[in-house]
Amino acid sequence: MSEEELQQADVVIVGGGLAGLSAACYLAREGADVRLYEKAAELGGRASTTDYDGFHLNRGVHALYTGGAMEEVLRELAIPYSGHSPTAVYMLREGKLYEFPRGVQSLLKTQLLGFGDKVELGRLFAQLPGLKAQEFARVSVRDWVLQVARRPRVREFLLMFACTNVYSSALELVSAEVLITKLQLLLKHPVLYIDGGWQTLVEGLRQAAVRAGAYVINNCRVEAVEYEDGRVRGVRLSNGQRVRAQAVVIATTPQEALKLVDAGTYAPLQNIVKDLLPARVACLDVALRRLPDPTHPVVQDAGSPCFLTAQSLYAKVAPTGGAVIHTFKQLDPVHPGDPQKDERELEALLDAVQPGWRELVVKRVFLPHMMAIGMLPTAAGGYDGRPSGYAGRPGPQVPGIEHLLLAGDWIGPGFLADASLGSARQVARLLLQDGRLARKGAKMGML
Ligand SMILES: Cc1cc2nc3c(=O)[nH]c(=O)nc-3n(C[C@H](O)[C@H](O)[C@H](O)COP(=O)(O)OP(=O)(O)OC[C@H]3O[C@@H](n4cnc5c(N)ncnc54)[C@H](O)[C@@H]3O)c2cc1C
Repeated sequence: MSEEELQQADVVIVGGGLAGLSAACYLAREGADVRLYEKAAELGGRASTTDYDGFHLNRGVHALYTGGAMEEVLRELAIPYSGHSPTAVYMLREGKLYEFPRGVQSLLKTQLLGFGDKVELGRLFAQLPGLKAQEFARVSVRDWVLQVARRPRVREFLLMFACTNVYSSALELVSAEVLITKLQLLLKHPVLYIDGGWQTLVEGLRQAAVRAGAYVINNCRVEAVEYEDGRVRGVRLSNGQRVRAQAVVIATTPQEALKLVDAGTYAPLQNIVKDLLPARVACLDVALRRLPDPTHPVVQDAGSPCFLTAQSLYAKVAPTGGAVIHTFKQLDPVHPGDPQKDERELEALLDAVQPGWRELVVKRVFLPHMMAIGMLPTAAGGYDGRPSGYAGRPGPQVPGIEHLLLAGDWIGPGFLADASLGSARQVARLLLQDGRLARKGAKMGML
């Protein structure tokens, strides 16, 4: 290999999604020499948005859950964005739309529930903030709902709402800690639909990373992580070049991470990845010339784990007069079912809520099997006595290889992108507190 082919960096980051870009920002702004490699032509990974003549379509429905690590990281890194929260939410039950009970007022008003149901649900809403979510880590979402709700209507409502919130219909597997934490956050913090779609966040992070001095290189796949004597040495790229680095951060999905170390045969990583339960969803995203019915923009289906939202009513994601609607079905990762049937179900939800949408289509995208979360915390725990709930998620250090770290929505606490951005920040902190990178940060007076 010639000298030019051997490049050097302090840190190599594999993956240009939200996690990789956030880690690049934190490290580069502390003075580290960072190279981020993204195999795709565009940055953003699962958070990317495609622009079809002014219609901004995320890869499936995306909302920023405020009050978590994602919002904190975006604030710390000064990433600009704007957006609005959905206001009118409904539940579709046996062909009729009802106000969705989201708080005291809508609970009192809705005709979805009878008087006794409202009392039971009201009591649960009141108790939620006081619950210690961790204490329910070993209980499944299904068992928890059946424990706290006695009335059939309340159970039906909570079970469907739970599917949407944990992004899975495998409620007998997912830890109730996930649902309780999520509901506690939702009671206090609004969700935001982002103007321009999530690409706004991706582009904001890219600009911040580049401004801080990071090299962000797309269209370049990392082939393998190289290590020796229990310490990471760098990476090999798909073009054959080698990059030496003091640290490597893998910010990909679990399956992609596994492939990078010893071509998928590195046992400590295999053990982590092999029994992860992902959250998978089927998404039907449509761009329309106009919105057929603006009166019911956000709808939860009571009969199946499906959800619809006309985001363009709240965020700037469509040209004037146009509309963007996202629908998604939460799948059972163990028995994902039939994609054609899923697509028909999502179309039927659109037919019921937005009649006439088929004649107005500018663009439609069906994504049958998207991984929304790399690892769902389970009630049963996992391999080698891995604990239940969030405590069972892997940490950022790859066992046995010093300075090889992991970031993503399967690492550490937090749900969805909260885990991606939260783990990216944790990885950066670990590196900056340790070894030569720390001295570099300290020299700059930043630690
Ligand atoms: C349908 C759907 C809906 C969602 N809704 C929400 C929501 O409402 N709220 C929320 O907070 N989160 C949501 N999420 C989750 C959120 O999108 C993800 O948590 C987040 O985007 C993951 O970012 P990441 O950087 O961890 O991983 P990724 O986005 O998967 O990024 C990994 C990147 O690594 C690249 N890569 C992989 N291997 C290599 C290699 N060998 N070399 C170079 N590059 C490589 C990939 O191309 C990719 O760009 C949703 C996800 C989906 C799919």
